[in-house]
Amino acid sequence: MIKKITCIECPVGCQLEVETDQSGHVIKVTGNKCEKGPVYAKQETENPMRILTSIVLTEGLDLKMVPVKTNKPIPKAKLMEAMAAVKKLKLTKQVKVDETIASDFLGLGVDLIATRPASFNSH
Ligand code: SF4
Repeated sequence: MIKKITCIECPVGCQLEVETDQSGHVIKVTGNKCEKGPVYAKQETENPMRILTSIVLTEGLDLKMVPVKTNKPIPKAKLMEAMAAVKKLKLTKQVKVDETIASDFLGLGVDLIATRPASFNSH
């Protein structure tokens, strides 16, 4: 099977043609202007990764919800499970930007971190 993807490793944005075998493994990549293209095509085709961004509900803090993200990409296939797990969290302590809310989130080797600070309500 052949599919077309755009390499996003640099602004050139090469249009890659990626050929896979029946089990989905990349066997040939064309259209790349440098050696990063095939590496990107293999990763994106065989194990696509994405940064998870979401919000966590809070209790007793000045923000009702705190925006969060994973500090590294996680497998795209795990995104739905991760979103469901984030929904179950409740933040009850103050956080600073980039502070870890959940370490080794879902055992994926990434941390869930706050992208906005939140403090205790002053009222
Ligand atoms: S293949 Fe190389 S030159 Fe082309 S977009 Fe990817 S990184 Fe840039």
